[in-house]
Amino acid sequence: MKNLPPTAADTERFSIPVPRVFIEGRMTVFENFGEIIDVLNRNPEHLLKFLLRELATAGKVEGGRVIFQGRFSQEMIAAIIEDYVAEYVTCSECNRPDTHLTKSDRTVMLKCDACGAHRPIRKRYVKKESAASALEEGSVYEVRIEAVGKRGDGIAKVGKFSLFVPGAQKGDTVKVRVKKISGTLAFTEKVLS
Ligand SMILES: [Zn+2]
Repeated sequence: MKNLPPTAADTERFSIPVPRVFIEGRMTVFENFGEIIDVLNRNPEHLLKFLLRELATAGKVEGGRVIFQGRFSQEMIAAIIEDYVAEYVTCSECNRPDTHLTKSDRTVMLKCDACGAHRPIRKRYVKKESAASALEEGSVYEVRIEAVGKRGDGIAKVGKFSLFVPGAQKGDTVKVRVKKISGTLAFTEKVLS
């Protein structure tokens, strides 16, 4: 049997546990936060801050779980974690998750332990944030599909929003109508042009 070198497709996604999320009254409990933190090997406070900002809510860690104020779906939390991983965990050169964050001056760098590549975090993030920040329900946008989610929907970015596009493939440029916006997530349908 030959040992084939891993391809980009093999290493692109490592196994992040699926978030277990349930609603309790007006709160959302993210039950396996601690388990996901262990896999990502990142500071819990850092991921918590990211989640709170993306969901635009308040919350706290309690015994390995996160309690958010407000109701959020499993899908939303999973999408935000995927964003976090792309931004703060996977190496943009070799796509491996064996990385760590370091600080040089005021810039946070993501350094890859597997291939040695490094890139600044803040620069990339600020660039993304400063893009269009408004998205309206009912409006049509032309977007490029950057990834495919666990459920098979294409995912595109507009400013701080992640747009879910059913039936779209990675790399497609499609016109979509926004059906519903929830936090920084937008559910869309393709528009035939
Ligand atoms: Zn690397």
